[in-house]
Amino acid sequence: LVSRENHAERSVVRVGGVPIGPGTVTLIAGPCAVETPEQTLGAAQMAQAAGATLLRGGAFKPRTSPYAFQGLGEAGLRILADVREETGMPIVTEVVDAGDVELVASYADMLQIGTRNAQNFALLQAAGEAGKPVMLKRGMNGTIEEWLMAAEYVAQRGNLDIVLCERGIRTFERATRNTLDISAVPVAQRLSHLPVIVDPSHSGGSRDLVLPLTRAAIAVGADGVIIDVHPHPETALCDGPQALVDGDLRELAKLVRDLPPIV
Ligand code: PEP
Repeated sequence: LVSRENHAERSVVRVGGVPIGPGTVTLIAGPCAVETPEQTLGAAQMAQAAGATLLRGGAFKPRTSPYAFQGLGEAGLRILADVREETGMPIVTEVVDAGDVELVASYADMLQIGTRNAQNFALLQAAGEAGKPVMLKRGMNGTIEEWLMAAEYVAQRGNLDIVLCERGIRTFERATRNTLDISAVPVAQRLSHLPVIVDPSHSGGSRDLVLPLTRAAIAVGADGVIIDVHPHPETALCDGPQALVDGDLRELAKLVRDLPPIV
């Protein structure tokens, strides 16, 4: 279903009216985690000023440590909905448990499935039945084929509005948080008709790598990027070191404006 074999044209997925697919580079940005109404609105306004048309933000956070901030849950979803009301930006937010899909889908414009759940088949199937577009991150240890098969689980439930997201894979290299597999973008686009975006924040894990990796993503033909921003990263409850701040966002705005998609 997601293979390019029977789909000569690459697909465009619309999220609350915002297209992701060939011909555009969609900028999705926002806080890694929703913390407070002020922080989320602040991040959304920064993102929007930089050209972002979709707001990201996690209310359910899949953290490596059970002692780390796990997200605000439904209270976080309510904050996202208020910020959507205020800014007009449709929301992309993660769901980590099949039992929460209905709840998250009642607030979200797009469901995100994270790298740690890339082969959680019950979750993939539930997301496929939720009636909302799905952004599917590549498993940090997953091959491109496994990633496409995960998408197939969503598609099998009748939902072809799927966006693939390359977010870096686990390699021997520890200088970066993950290794951005930039070649996965054209490979996935050759094998599948689905749009492919890149997450330079979670792959590099460091603010100074976000702009160079964004340039690489756009140059290689990604259909969009998803980027962490935070008004005060030094106090962030999740992934502060990779969040862009105002100055970086001015650079990002220039980049998105000046670099049209290479088609
Ligand atoms: C995220 O985007 O908030 C996230 C946790 O990403 P990943 O699943 O790629 O680690």
